[in-house]
Amino acid sequence: MKIAVLRERSEGETRVAATPETVAKLIGLGAEVAVEAGAGELARLPDADYATAGAAVGNAAATIKGADIVLAVRRPLARDIAGAAEGALVIGTMDPYGNEGEIASLAKAGVTAVAMEFMPRITRAQVMDVLSSQANLAGYQAVIDAAGAFDRAMPMMMTAAGTVRPAKVFVMGAGVAGLQAIATAKRLGAVVTATDVRAAAAEQVASLGGKFIMTDALKDASGTGGYARELTKEEQAAQAELVAGHIAKQDIVITTALIPGRPAPKLVSAAMVASMAPGSVIVDLAAERGGNVELTQPGSVVTTANGVTIIGYLNVPGRLATSASQLYARNLFAFLETLIDKKEKRLAVNWDDELVKATVLTRGGAVVHPNIKVEAAPAAPAAAKKPAPAKAETAAAPAKAAPAKKPAAKRPAAKADPADKPAAPAAKAPAKKAATAKGKK
Ligand code: NAD
Repeated sequence: MKIAVLRERSEGETRVAATPETVAKLIGLGAEVAVEAGAGELARLPDADYATAGAAVGNAAATIKGADIVLAVRRPLARDIAGAAEGALVIGTMDPYGNEGEIASLAKAGVTAVAMEFMPRITRAQVMDVLSSQANLAGYQAVIDAAGAFDRAMPMMMTAAGTVRPAKVFVMGAGVAGLQAIATAKRLGAVVTATDVRAAAAEQVASLGGKFIMTDALKDASGTGGYARELTKEEQAAQAELVAGHIAKQDIVITTALIPGRPAPKLVSAAMVASMAPGSVIVDLAAERGGNVELTQPGSVVTTANGVTIIGYLNVPGRLATSASQLYARNLFAFLETLIDKKEKRLAVNWDDELVKATVLTRGGAVVHPNIKVEAAPAAPAAAKKPAPAKAETAAAPAKAAPAKKPAAKRPAAKADPADKPAAPAAKAPAKKAATAKGKK
């Protein structure tokens, strides 16, 4: 049983799907592990550490040759995994919506593509939940990025020269990322308020020491599976009124609001940004899905005429490549443990397992996931870019419908030979004063 770990080829991707720690554990399960040279470089995991853990470190062709399992962060192209065993499991985040053609190509290549982001959010699978592990880190990093761009101190400081008032941080969307942002801002000493459209979030915000704010007009907009539903026009107007009054007094705003299968809801208008004081900072964690802030430029940092910095980084977990890789790799290992017969030391996939049924996209040369409609993709590419219907959450459906189109990791042009191209360097924060430069990330 051979497991291959390739270097990520998507632009800007800094993470790696296995660490020396998980490589050693996989070998403990009876696997032979091959790692492409440089796979962990951007996550500060040197080849030598993989070799010490027992992996064979080599070039791409040698790594993929005969692999029964391929581990990836982003969906590889079919040509990148040519040489893997027939029916090999290719496990990673597959971002299938809007990319149905590429999923079909993987099916045609004869591999079994497994989408980790479709893992059901049930107790047994918590340890395999890549959305949560990565969102947690993104929520933390959002506050760190905001603090870095903020010209003032975060905590209250009593000094001989006088008192510095604590920063006011407002978190919009109190899911996994939002709750971590609240916890991080509290640790830094900020005064934190937060809002969400799910009433259940109120208690969670309060338990972290944040103050929950919500308009009376919006009782509870919980949808299915613990996610939010889209607001009605009236509810949107009530929320906008609440936010408009509150945001003008905030120093830092972190937005994380998402609705499964829909573009990110627009929560912060240009007028609201204009009402904020110079030096205020907004971090839009929803930038990959279009952004919660009207003025966000996904992938960029912009400063408005009134001096508000809006940070719209893509692939925020990738800004913490080492931690993100460690957690992601552990998520994958936990899932792999359920797919391997430890005694026989061989792959033993239970195709009826709910985790397998929910995540397998392709098998036996065909696209098999009920939510992925490939027929429309080649005939009408424009239509295929539409978001998946929000109702797509059936029993066997993903826990969360993925974004319509994720601009985070752009593929190299088809003509280019990605194998020869190193991945883009880690996207770390620019110096805070450079924010005005609209640096592309
Ligand atoms: P998400 O990424 O889909 O959305 C982020 C947050 O934005 C959510 O809290 C959502 O309610 C909120 N939101 C949507 N529209 C909004 C609006 N107009 N204004 C303000 N906020 C808005 O959510 P997530 O972080 O993936 O978490 C979704 C749910 O899943 C939560 O209830 C979470 O507790 C739950 N969860 C469960 C498990 C598990 O049981 N294993 C694991 C992770 C998350």
